[in-house]
Amino acid sequence: MEQIQDWLEDLLELQAIDSRLDRMNEQITSAPKQKKEAQDNLDTQQAAAVAAKEEVRKIELKIKDLAADVEKIEAQRLKVLDQTNSVKDNSTYKALLAEADSLQKQIGAKEEDELILMEELDGVKSIFKEKQALLQEAVSRVEQMMGDLDVRVENCKKQVGIFAEKREEQATKIDSEILNRYTRIKASNGGRKAALLELNGDKCGFCHLKLTAQEINQAQKRVALTACANCGSLIYK
Ligand SMILES: [Zn+2]
Repeated sequence: MEQIQDWLEDLLELQAIDSRLDRMNEQITSAPKQKKEAQDNLDTQQAAAVAAKEEVRKIELKIKDLAADVEKIEAQRLKVLDQTNSVKDNSTYKALLAEADSLQKQIGAKEEDELILMEELDGVKSIFKEKQALLQEAVSRVEQMMGDLDVRVENCKKQVGIFAEKREEQATKIDSEILNRYTRIKASNGGRKAALLELNGDKCGFCHLKLTAQEINQAQKRVALTACANCGSLIYK
């Protein structure tokens, strides 16, 4: 009886070691994906900041163009006014004044456009500031995260080394037939969480199907290599 119990305890301990190894290996293999996600997110934020800056530049350029227009029209207006000084007949004089007046109106319209653009500029500038702050925050967060991930991976690699040794030692305690069967089931379907499972009432702890009275009886007696006929899991009760 004592011997029958031993295989179970030893195999359960091996499975516990395997489970830790699985978790650590998972951390190691998922690190590059996590890094890539963080980098992609950073790239998106960077692109958003660049786009916001481009908006600022566009509006600044429009304002500059408008100011240049206003200057040009103002020079023209002054020239027209200057001409009124040397004009002799009344109708030409009136025509020149009307032209100067029209130019003044053009200036007024451009200056109004300029005011609207100034307001828009304030808006896009504050958006840019916001995006820039978000980007800076993301950069430091990602740097921190990358560093943490590297440390975590390093630690996991060390732990994997330690636990692989433990596993090897634990495996020597287990009958080779039991070990082979366990290893095969554990590796099936691209790697399972567990190959040895306690019964859940009268159901398999893995596939949850109801077991036969004989299977349950064997599991209860803890006969080695008792397995679920449906999924092949080693079972005990
Ligand atoms: Zn099963």
